[in-house]
Amino acid sequence: MGDDKYAVFGHPIKHSQSPRIHTLFAQQTHQLNMTYSAQDVPAEEFELSVKDFVSNGGRGLNCTVPLKELAYSMASELSARAMLAKAVNTLVVSDDGQLYGDNTDGIGLIQDLTLNLQLDLGGHDILLLGAGGASRGILGPLLDQSPNRLIIANRTVAKAETLAFEFNDCGALHARSLADLKGYTFDLIINATAASLSNELPDIPRDILNKHGCCYDLAYGCEPTAFVRWGLEYGASKSVDGLGMLVEQAAEAFALWRGVRPDTFEVIDLLNAERNAG
Ligand code: NDP
Repeated sequence: MGDDKYAVFGHPIKHSQSPRIHTLFAQQTHQLNMTYSAQDVPAEEFELSVKDFVSNGGRGLNCTVPLKELAYSMASELSARAMLAKAVNTLVVSDDGQLYGDNTDGIGLIQDLTLNLQLDLGGHDILLLGAGGASRGILGPLLDQSPNRLIIANRTVAKAETLAFEFNDCGALHARSLADLKGYTFDLIINATAASLSNELPDIPRDILNKHGCCYDLAYGCEPTAFVRWGLEYGASKSVDGLGMLVEQAAEAFALWRGVRPDTFEVIDLLNAERNAG
């Protein structure tokens, strides 16, 4: 019998850290009969590529931009959180080739915020910037933390309003345009826009972070992102990028596939040390 095959599909995918992270998890948990690769799969090739992957012994997939909604449509069974998000980042292939879809982005973010960064979200005022696929995955788990107020703001305000409507049953969520944020202040600002990927900042007022507030950018890179730098400039007590979330969401996927959750501290430390070393 060959190794169990896992992969991340996305477009672009060249700079994905997922193969490295899952290889470290496999070594750490002694799961030596598995491989994990990255495949560049544009949206129009997704369905065929998944079928090929499954018929060649694939056991599980991660799906990233722009494939999460397609993965949601293709799964024959869904977790409650994937159903709520209408987006899937993890597919589990059953023995008879059926696809189970889950979304581990939200739990990954919450683990990083509450365990790794030791932030208490309950009772606090939180701003979520962006209304794309990532925001869909994290809204439910964020509302589960019972913030005092959660505002979602987006460049295209109609998309924020749609999400506020869809997640209405999960807790108090309000939609605003970026300009309408003037006058509010927040204990935590989460940037789930894709702006950092092009070294840009969402156009937000400068005085919206409370004293001792924190900033969290879902994007990550070798250097601090534009939003992480914004947080530091405006006095955030912590301003960090999404590397920790990336590792945590991967650990949740790994646990679904292999039945064992890796120690994420060790892997986050290693990846941070590597990037600090340049
Ligand atoms: P989408 O393409 O689905 O959504 C992009 C969002 O960003 C939209 O709300 C869009 O606004 C907004 N946006 C893009 N450019 C700008 C800009 N210049 N100014 C203001 N808003 C902007 O992307 P995803 O939701 O999938 O991903 C968002 C980010 O999260 C990416 O950086 C991605 O890498 C990161 N991510 C990180 C993860 C991790 O594990 N750390 C996991 C998942 C995602 P509009 O609607 O107006 O176009």
